[in-house]
Amino acid sequence: MKLGNRIQFYTTGLFVILLVLISAAVYFSFSKIVYDSDVDQTRLEAERIVTGIHERSGDSLSADVLRAYVPANGMIRLVLPDGTSEISLTGGSQENLIEQAYPYEAGEKAEVRTYEGLPYAFVSIPIVWTNGEVVSFQLTRSLEATAQNLTILRIVLMTVALLAMIPFFLSSTLLSRLIVNPIRSLIQTMQQIRGSGQFKHIPYEGKSNDELAQMADTFNKMMVQLEENYQKQEQFVSNASHELKTPLTVIESYASLLKRRGKQEEELFQESVEAIHSEAKRMRELTEQLLLLARKEEHWDVQFESVELSQLLQTTVASFEKAYQRRVELSCPQELHLITDEQKLKQLLYIFMDNARKYSEEAIEVHVEKAGKHVAIRVMDRGIGMSQKDLEKVFDRFYQVEESRTEGYGLGLSLAEELAHALKADIQLSSEKGKGKGTTATILLPLSEDSHF
Ligand code: ATP
Ligand code: MG
Repeated sequence: MKLGNRIQFYTTGLFVILLVLISAAVYFSFSKIVYDSDVDQTRLEAERIVTGIHERSGDSLSADVLRAYVPANGMIRLVLPDGTSEISLTGGSQENLIEQAYPYEAGEKAEVRTYEGLPYAFVSIPIVWTNGEVVSFQLTRSLEATAQNLTILRIVLMTVALLAMIPFFLSSTLLSRLIVNPIRSLIQTMQQIRGSGQFKHIPYEGKSNDELAQMADTFNKMMVQLEENYQKQEQFVSNASHELKTPLTVIESYASLLKRRGKQEEELFQESVEAIHSEAKRMRELTEQLLLLARKEEHWDVQFESVELSQLLQTTVASFEKAYQRRVELSCPQELHLITDEQKLKQLLYIFMDNARKYSEEAIEVHVEKAGKHVAIRVMDRGIGMSQKDLEKVFDRFYQVEESRTEGYGLGLSLAEELAHALKADIQLSSEKGKGKGTTATILLPLSEDSHF
């Protein structure tokens, strides 16, 4: 069953049950009150007649005397203890009452009885008859008029209930539409998005802040996020394939050169092998970096442990100096323990030192200082520097400043950003173009409680 139908079905069903229950309660309590009062009246009348009979006691009481008391819509009957009837007098058109069985009632009784489908008030009072015998004086009165009134009440209640159903049905239809329509439009938009592969938004007007508005808003925000991620991914894939195309073209052209003339020309052979080797190396490095970037943070396998910073910096700087034949000036306090991942921190330092090496000629400085609750490791160079505009973009994947497109792929800094995030560290980059200026990259690592600086 659809949601709209379900809402309508349940609300209407509940309302119908409620209406039937209320109507039934009204009808039955009212009919009881009315019948009880009728029975009461009949009893009073019977008592009045009995008093009249007593007053006349002594006189010979005959059917003629009693006839004066017979109600137009009922019957008076005297029943002897042996079950026979002494006197049975009916009024108006109630002759058929004579046919009814008349058991002897020893005590007083007042109740509603049904004869031939019609209700009657029945009252029985024991009296002493002229011959000294105790007989049952029975007064029966038709309640047909009351029954007719109750039938009218039943019809009125049913009509009112049916009429009340109309506005209720309309309002429940409206309610279900109010709820279902925005959901339908949501489903439609989702289906359109699925069909077209585009990132559409749900047009949800109205200033209300209900759950449906929140749902549409969340959906729209999710769409924005998905679109951004999708575009980033697309950009990344196209950049990556573009970067791979160049070394592959170089390898392919040198390989075909080798195929044609490699055996005859020793010099060409050497050059080709060199070129193929270096391009293959570049590609391997690129794919390694790409793989790292593609890896999700939870798969980084970060292992936090106590690390002695000055020791770590000394070994890193020493191996860097040896590998690149570049001078690095290190200034670091004697001993400083931090909780971090040693390998990842080294990788981060390498990224910044590698940039400093590539984009400057003079000595590189690595400097450690306290910055509030953090320790700041600064990698400084006096190289070409960057403009403010470039500084905003260098963390994007594959971004390289125009004049420094030499080696590298523009992936180092985006990798640094991910590494820093995994290490719960912050990185900052400040730079200025011009002679004697340069770039400073800062890694901010949180100080552990037991580390004194
Ligand atoms: P990769 O690190 O992937 O080998 P890359 O060094 O070009 O290549 P990033 O480290 O991401 O890539 O740096 C992006 C760009 O930022 C560089 O191409 C360079 O233009 C600029 N840049 C980064 N560090 C410096 C620096 N210390 N001085 C001047 N420019 C820099
Ligand atoms: Mg780099």
